[in-house]
Amino acid sequence: MTNPRSGTFDHQSMIVVKLGGAEGVDFSAICQDAAALLEQGQRLVLVHGGSAEANALGETIGHPPRFVTSPSGFTSRYTDRKTLEIFAAAVNGKINTLLVEQLQRLGVNAFGLSGLDGRLMVAKRKAAIRIIENGKRKILRDDYTGKIQQVNAQWLMTLLGSGITPVIAPLAVSELGEALNVDADRAAAMIAAALKVDTLLLLTAARGLLKGFPDESTLIKKMSTSDLEGALEIAQGRMKKKVLGAQEALTGGVAKVIIADGRVQKPISNALEGNGTVIL
Ligand code: ADP
Repeated sequence: MTNPRSGTFDHQSMIVVKLGGAEGVDFSAICQDAAALLEQGQRLVLVHGGSAEANALGETIGHPPRFVTSPSGFTSRYTDRKTLEIFAAAVNGKINTLLVEQLQRLGVNAFGLSGLDGRLMVAKRKAAIRIIENGKRKILRDDYTGKIQQVNAQWLMTLLGSGITPVIAPLAVSELGEALNVDADRAAAMIAAALKVDTLLLLTAARGLLKGFPDESTLIKKMSTSDLEGALEIAQGRMKKKVLGAQEALTGGVAKVIIADGRVQKPISNALEGNGTVIL
């Protein structure tokens, strides 16, 4: 929020919240909690994913998703041009619009955009990706995914300064102006670092990072940056991207990352009270 005395932006009072797309994550509870917190003067930037919705749309129109694994064990969606269009339709077209609608119904002036709009997020395209398939190394070409290089935080500050809540879909723009699919956890991390916020919240369908996944009683309550390398070992599947995102945010100057449950009532407040995995 803008400090009325100095006219400067108080980055400490801003939080970037990433909404996970897995089954069970309660978008309506998150929006209600967001509306209540905004009412109390909290400033929020929301970032969302949408893999499940993009998968479902791909299946419906006969272009199912193809997931590939990199030599270092990270899973990602192979995004040919058609998949990019499906991803944009599901994530930017549907999820972003419906999230903005939910927030508007709650009286929040939400503004939906993706990283393509106004070059909010500029990414380097990885046109060729290395994968491991059936134990063999292969190279896939014509991929439309990217790694974010730059976030133009000024756009977000302008919106926030006008009392508007940005809701961001994980698409970025390449140097050549192409739309690219980017990972939403890592996008949220880059946005949090660019805005110099104090806290990045990753809401997902788990209580936090579990030492013995899927046993929810093995929640890791606190971790330090130096534990993150080890955490990459225990995180499976897409949870690895969250750990990587946490690492990038903390390296980028964010003070605290919380991986927390998006399936509970008041998920944002619950996480801010320290429930989840707090990484400092
Ligand atoms: P989102 O949609 O929230 O971005 P994903 O569903 O793709 O995320 O990934 C988060 C999921 O990863 C969790 O819901 C959980 O099922 C799984 N997971 C894998 N390993 C772990 C772990 N060590 N701790 C917690 N969750 C894990």
